[in-house]
Amino acid sequence: MQHSFENTLAFAQSLDASDTLRSFRNEFILPAKADGTPKIYFCGNSLGLQPKTAADYVAKEMQRWATLAVEGHFQGEPSWFNYHRTMRDTTAKLVGALPHEVVIMNTLTVNLHLMMVSFYRPTAQRYKILMEAGAFPSDQYAVESQVRFHGLDPAKAIVEVAPREGEATLRIEDIEQAIDKHANSLALVLFGGVHYYTGQAFDLKRIAAAAHAAGAKVGFDLAHAVGNLPLHLHQWDADFAVWCTYKYLNSGPGGTSGAFIHERYANNTELPRFAGWWGYREESRFLMQKGFVPMYGAEGWQLSCGQIFPFAVHRASLEIFERAGIEYLRAKSIRLTSFLAFLLEQINQQAATQLLHIITPSDPHQRGCQLSLVVPQNGKKVFEQLIQAGVVCDWREPDVIRVAPVPLYNTFEEVWQFAAILTKILTATTEAVQITC
Ligand SMILES: *Cc1c(COP(=O)(O)O)cnc(C)c1O
Repeated sequence: MQHSFENTLAFAQSLDASDTLRSFRNEFILPAKADGTPKIYFCGNSLGLQPKTAADYVAKEMQRWATLAVEGHFQGEPSWFNYHRTMRDTTAKLVGALPHEVVIMNTLTVNLHLMMVSFYRPTAQRYKILMEAGAFPSDQYAVESQVRFHGLDPAKAIVEVAPREGEATLRIEDIEQAIDKHANSLALVLFGGVHYYTGQAFDLKRIAAAAHAAGAKVGFDLAHAVGNLPLHLHQWDADFAVWCTYKYLNSGPGGTSGAFIHERYANNTELPRFAGWWGYREESRFLMQKGFVPMYGAEGWQLSCGQIFPFAVHRASLEIFERAGIEYLRAKSIRLTSFLAFLLEQINQQAATQLLHIITPSDPHQRGCQLSLVVPQNGKKVFEQLIQAGVVCDWREPDVIRVAPVPLYNTFEEVWQFAAILTKILTATTEAVQITC
C-alpha cells in the first residue's frame, strides 16, 4: 500500500476530516492534563481507554444484584447464567472462530495454563515447546513451570527462536526452519500474535502450518493482537489461543480473558483438562453428580461461574467493536501507524542523523498499531519528557519507548502533535549532549 503523507498539521487534520470512524473517539473517556485538555494517549496496547457506556453496564448488574440477589442467576436479560454467551458472537468475529470455539473466562495467564494442560502433553519422544525469544514474562514463566510440572528440564525442553545477529525482529523462514529442525521432538509451538516489545506481528497461518507439518500442536497468545489485527484462528487451524481483554479490547484493568479451542476438540472427552463445575454439561450441572462430563466446545473448559462485573465491562466494549468492525479499524490503523512512521523518519532526515530507530517492522503487514522506538541517546530521559508534555506512552526495559495510536480513539492530529513534541525534545536533548561533550 502506497501512502503519500505530508508533515503538516493541516494535512493531519484533513486525514481526520475524512476518517469515517472518527466519531468513535467520543465514546471513550480520555485522560486529561491539568488544564483539562486531553492527553495524547498512546498506551492502548497496555490498557485501553474506558468506554463511556462501561459504567452503566456495571451499574445495571449492581442494581440486579441489589434487587434480584440470587435470582439474578436465572432471571433478567441476560441472566448471569447466560451472560458469557452475550459476548460469544462478537468474540468469534474478532478472532475468526466459530461461536462454539470461543469462551470468555478467567484471566490470560490462567487460561494459558489451562490450555497447556490440555495441549502440552509431552512424551519421551515429543516434549519440546518452541516459542519466540523474549516472550512476555508471564508466558515464559507459565511455560517454564509447565515443563517442570511434567518433570522436565526447561533448558532442554524450551526452544526459543531469536532474531539474527544485528536484527531486532524474527524472519518467518527462521521460525519455520526452527520448527522443522526440532520436528521429531516438538510437542507444542506457542507463539505470540504481536510481540509486546518489538511490535512485530507474526504470520500465524504459516506458523500453524509449520507446527502441524512437524506433528506438533500450536497455540497463540493474542494479548497484543486481538482488537488490533483481524484474526482467522479457525481457518489458520490453530489448536488453541488465549488473550486478555484490557489492552486493545478496552475492558478494564484485570479484565477478563478469552480462549479459543478448535472445533475438532469440541466433543473430545479424552483430552485431559483441569475441570470445574461451570464446564460441566449444562443440562445436568445442578444435579451436582460425581464424574465430570464436559460441555460441548470451548465452554467445556470453564471452571467457575461467570465474573459478571468484568464481563459487563467487556460486553460494553465489544458492542463498540461490533459497530466499528475490525476490518475498518485495521484499515484506519494502517494509515495511522504509517503516518506516525513517516513523521518519525522525517525527524531523522531533518536532523541528518539517526536520532531514533524504529525496531518494529516497516512493512504494515508485519505490525499492528504499535511502534517501538529506540532512542540511542538518553532514551529514558526522552521518555520522561514525553510524559511531562502530556503524552502517555511507555518505557520497556532495556531501551524501548512504545507508542501505539489506536484507531478507535486516536486521531491523525494527535500523531502529528506527538511527532512535533518528540522533535522538540530530541533536538533539545541532542544540543544539550553536544554542549556537555
Ligand atoms: C499483557 C500480557 C500478559 C498479561 O497476562 P495477565 O495474565 O493478563 O496478567 C501475558 N502475556 C502477554 C503476551 C501479554 O502481552
